Amino acid sequence: MKKLSIGVRLTLWYLAVFALGELVFGAGMWFILRANLYDIVDDSVESQIEDLRNFLSAQKPDTPLPALQQQVKGAYSIEHPGDYLALYLENGDLVYRSAFLDAHPSALLPPQQVKRPISESRRIEHHPFRFLFEKMSVNGRVFIVEMGIPADDAVDTLHQFRNYLWIFAPLLLFGAAGLGYWMSRKALAPMDELVRTARAVSGTSLNTRLPKLATGDELQRLSDTLNEMLDRIEKAFSRITQFTADASHELRTPISLMRTEAELALRRARGEEEYRESLRHILLEAERTTGLIEQLLSLARADSGREIVRMSKLDLRPMVQSVIGGWRQVATMRGLQFSADVDTSAFVAGDETLLRRAIEILLDNAFKYTPAPGWVHLRLEQSDENVVISVQDSGVGIEPVEQGRIFERFYRIDKARTRNLGGAGLGLAIAQWVAVQHHGEIIVESRPGEGSTFRLQLPRLSMPVADPQPA
Ligand code: ADP
Repeated sequence: MKKLSIGVRLTLWYLAVFALGELVFGAGMWFILRANLYDIVDDSVESQIEDLRNFLSAQKPDTPLPALQQQVKGAYSIEHPGDYLALYLENGDLVYRSAFLDAHPSALLPPQQVKRPISESRRIEHHPFRFLFEKMSVNGRVFIVEMGIPADDAVDTLHQFRNYLWIFAPLLLFGAAGLGYWMSRKALAPMDELVRTARAVSGTSLNTRLPKLATGDELQRLSDTLNEMLDRIEKAFSRITQFTADASHELRTPISLMRTEAELALRRARGEEEYRESLRHILLEAERTTGLIEQLLSLARADSGREIVRMSKLDLRPMVQSVIGGWRQVATMRGLQFSADVDTSAFVAGDETLLRRAIEILLDNAFKYTPAPGWVHLRLEQSDENVVISVQDSGVGIEPVEQGRIFERFYRIDKARTRNLGGAGLGLAIAQWVAVQHHGEIIVESRPGEGSTFRLQLPRLSMPVADPQPA
């Protein structure tokens, strides 16, 4: 079943609550009015009974019953109030009963039943009456008086009130429903606008924003929150688009170099050495491309959260020592001095593969950007809280303005020069991701022309020196 819209549901709720309110109010007012009107009628019966009491007390106390009957009859049979009067003695002897009540004895109570004052409504010949039954003692005699009075006016007023209720309550209800529906439509109108705009948002129109509401209510919070979400999605989306564009661009360069090399080699017949040279170039480019693809995959995995990070208690000393072993040869080949200061064990909670990759990146950069004759120094040190692996070089250095940007993806200071050195500007982005995964950071200090120091700082794990193995 199709769900009703919020506007209609709100209106229905409003209607139900309003109808209930009207019902309670109408019924309450009706009962109050009835009680008040009956009070007025009862008061007038009581004042007539008071008259009767006065009349009886004016009689001699020992008037015999027949004489009393005559006097009451004489006084009441012709007077209007006597039309609805019955008077008994306590023993049930009748003193007086009007002709009307003689004709309608069902309106009366047997005198023995009247122990205390009773007020009751009666219908006689389709006419409403209020009756009062009460015991009263006058001049030492106890009488039972049963007196009524027509209550047509009171009942007519009540009927009139009920009729007005029947007419005006539905009118008010419909009016309120209409007003409620209009108000809910008005309050929810911005919602339709939000829905329309949200529908229009797609991958190519991510810069669309929902209308800015100034209603100061939930709808404004909703649109603000959705807009903030769109901001984040747009940024993430443009990062991915930029990444894809940069990656394609980076991949195109080595592939077109390989293609040109192969085309040139095939253009005419060449000697074996020339072919070898061409193949060497192609191999070099292929190796670079493989490295680049590995970096791209690593970042893509990191972005999607699929790069597995296996944390364990790790002593960095043996790991760093094994890394630097391979770089000694590179240093000799490049005419650089390479020294290391890795004397103490230093424990961190870390992923060995990832940390090794980060250190390799820092060392690779130090060697790439340090022309011979120069030096590279690696140091493993620790403070109370941190373990720091610092890689220092005497290389080209980095301008202060560039120092914040070198961690961006594909950012290279001198594109032409670094391309020859083999970098695509991804190394530091990866190293920084590794540092962040370890709740650490990479700090750079550098002076152009003098060299740079990159510090990979990780939270230290206090560990017994004897147990470097993962738990
Ligand atoms: P690449 O793979 O190009 O080296 P990185 O992200 O590792 O990319 O480094 C980004 C840029 O930072 C490099 O292109 C280089 O210009 C600069 N850089 C990195 N390390 C050093 C260093 N030790 N000395 C001087 N410049 C450096």
